[in-house]
Amino acid sequence: MNTQDILSLFEKYVIANYGRLPKVIVKGQNNTLWDMENNEILDMFPGWAVSGIGHCHPKVVEAIRKQAGELLHIDNTFYTIQQGQLAKMLSERAFGGQCFFCNSGAEANEAALKLARKHTPREKYKFITAEKSFHGRTFATITASGQPKYHNGFLPLPAGFVYVPYNDIDALHEAFDEEVCGVMVEPIQGEGGIHEATPEYLQTIRDLCDEHGALMILDEVQTGMGRTGRWFGYQHYEVVPDMITMAKALGGGVAIGAMMARPEIAKSLVPGTHASTFGGNSLACAAGIAVIEAIEEDNLLDNANKMGQYTRKKLEQLKEKYPIIDHIRGKGLMLGIQLTMPGGSIVSRCLEKGLRINCTQDTVLRFMPSMTVSKDEIDRAITILDEVLGEGEQE
Ligand SMILES: *Cc1c(COP(=O)(O)O)cnc(C)c1O
Repeated sequence: MNTQDILSLFEKYVIANYGRLPKVIVKGQNNTLWDMENNEILDMFPGWAVSGIGHCHPKVVEAIRKQAGELLHIDNTFYTIQQGQLAKMLSERAFGGQCFFCNSGAEANEAALKLARKHTPREKYKFITAEKSFHGRTFATITASGQPKYHNGFLPLPAGFVYVPYNDIDALHEAFDEEVCGVMVEPIQGEGGIHEATPEYLQTIRDLCDEHGALMILDEVQTGMGRTGRWFGYQHYEVVPDMITMAKALGGGVAIGAMMARPEIAKSLVPGTHASTFGGNSLACAAGIAVIEAIEEDNLLDNANKMGQYTRKKLEQLKEKYPIIDHIRGKGLMLGIQLTMPGGSIVSRCLEKGLRINCTQDTVLRFMPSMTVSKDEIDRAITILDEVLGEGEQE
């Protein structure tokens, strides 16, 4: 079998809902991937931020192996050790909330939206979300995502969502009324192109929510689990949200999502109101525990900060060299390179030279290496990007 054989399988048997790069990946180790022809790829966008501590982290692999031999899944009719422990670990690293576990970011956001409606009085039903936001692909979460391109073809959408421009404080004030039950935003918009919330913006959301009895929900699916150099993106600010949602890097490569809510709010989710069959299964929770342990034992928050600064410095140097780079945005290892033109061909040409990065919103290159990334790996990535940019515009 070779790459072409597998591509043929996809052509015939897999729904073509993804724009895929023409490579079949067979192995991943830390920040390196291998394709079927044994070519090496340096991965600076591992799993769309899922492999936050690199591919197949030995501690995660070990924990999964061990757990797989004991108990993979038991339904939530029972208690498990791992779910309880992971919830405690997350709670202690955030604001002391309680967790509901599911299997993805969209589901975590669904849980948060449902809880906000459930917890607040009946007349409160509206959600305020931001333009250019991304919250997932289920009906409620595409509706929460303030981008028409995710709505097109799927109308009618669930009712009750209002959009405001991100970081626009006046628009927030204008949109708020007694019918609002929650505001959902990302502390740094990811898919929307790496836009950071201003401190005043998050503070205004907090104040307006308090004033009107609405809930502040932060989508930390991409910013969470250390990517920005702190456990959660909101920890760079003075505000404390009522709920956060997580997924992506939480399981180190195993599917898991979680919604955390302040205990007084969480208590509204009584038996029968919400559930997930696979949510919080032992395997996924064992992986989550191992991820947190690895981040702490290996000082990866610290590494994310240091390597984030280093990468940024290197990217700023490229900016001096190439006018196509307008500016660099982001925090920690969540970095965006705003280009003055579309970046799709840069991504493909980097891949041909063995470097994986991403382009979002057409003109923003996303550079989001794992928290285990080394200086040497960043240097190699920058060298390739430098080469590609040096070749200039190409089709
Ligand atoms: C990826 C992402 C989601 C959706 O997560 P899925 O696991 O794909 O459902 C939601 N919010 C943000 C901020 C994301 O980056």
